[in-house]
Amino acid sequence: MTRIDGHTYLIGLMAYPIRHSMSPTMHNTAFEELGLNYAYLAFDIDGDHLKDGVQAIRTLEMRGANISMPNKQNIIPHLDKLDISAKMNQAVNTVVNDNGVLTGYTTDGVGFVNDLKRKGHDVSGQKMVVVGAGGAGTPIATQSALDGLSEIKIFNRRDDRFANAQKIVDLINQETDCQASLHDLADDAAFKDALAWADIYCDATGVGMKPLEDQSLVNDPSWLKPDLVVYDTVYAPRQTKLMTIAKDAGVKNVYNGLGMMIEQGAAAFKLWTGQDMPIAAVEAAIN
Ligand code: NAD
Repeated sequence: MTRIDGHTYLIGLMAYPIRHSMSPTMHNTAFEELGLNYAYLAFDIDGDHLKDGVQAIRTLEMRGANISMPNKQNIIPHLDKLDISAKMNQAVNTVVNDNGVLTGYTTDGVGFVNDLKRKGHDVSGQKMVVVGAGGAGTPIATQSALDGLSEIKIFNRRDDRFANAQKIVDLINQETDCQASLHDLADDAAFKDALAWADIYCDATGVGMKPLEDQSLVNDPSWLKPDLVVYDTVYAPRQTKLMTIAKDAGVKNVYNGLGMMIEQGAAAFKLWTGQDMPIAAVEAAIN
């Protein structure tokens, strides 16, 4: 790593547990590829040490940080400003330090929208069904609405996220031109009709990932029309049960969440460096 010297900018990943993350490989590959004098390191920071972690960004004059669980909400009071993406989701996954002023962003939603764009699908004017209103579903819904989605139907089971889903629906209706509504996932008829109505279907629940890798929320292939865009936010495994059912149903455009993961990183990378992340090199490094 000859590029690291006395002028190197530090970027940190603050979460717990975090050692499994692909983000250090992703960003350091990109810095190396572009010859940028930055280094990206992971730090085990739990809720008890978050305040000190944020202070370290200021004291060490770090360029910024990525923030993951359990810190995404708790960091908000420690920051100076929030971008609209962080305000709408009440969560932060990226911090940018501009001469001591710390601004929080959420780039997951941009990651979803940009990944779809890269694959040839613009959310603008489209109708979408999203299942799930947690850390992934919320920014996917709000960013798609901000980027011109015409209508969104959010489905959630009646668990502790249902109330959050209602908040998101209200916020989208107040703050954007997108028309949003909330539905109970237990209502099979409504779910089936919504899939027939939608242009894009996004599963943001984690069903399809361990320990639910043998499960899908849609099990009847006839519910998935061939021209529907089917997007599963899960990327481990790369091929989920939903994706298999969709492909068997003849759906042409079926995606896992790896592209969203890379694009949320690319959006953060752009905020820190002003440069476009070299996606192909990053894909090769983490695949
Ligand atoms: P979360 O716990 O915050 O939210 C999960 C949501 O799914 C909730 O709305 C919950 O009600 C719903 N849900 C959970 N289990 C369900 C089930 N069995 N049936 C129906 N609904 C269910 O989780 P999260 O952080 O939003 O993560 C969800 C998924 O998205 C995970 O698989 C995660 O790996 C993935 N994810 C991907 C990216 C990416 O960049 N691709 C980013 C973040 C999260």
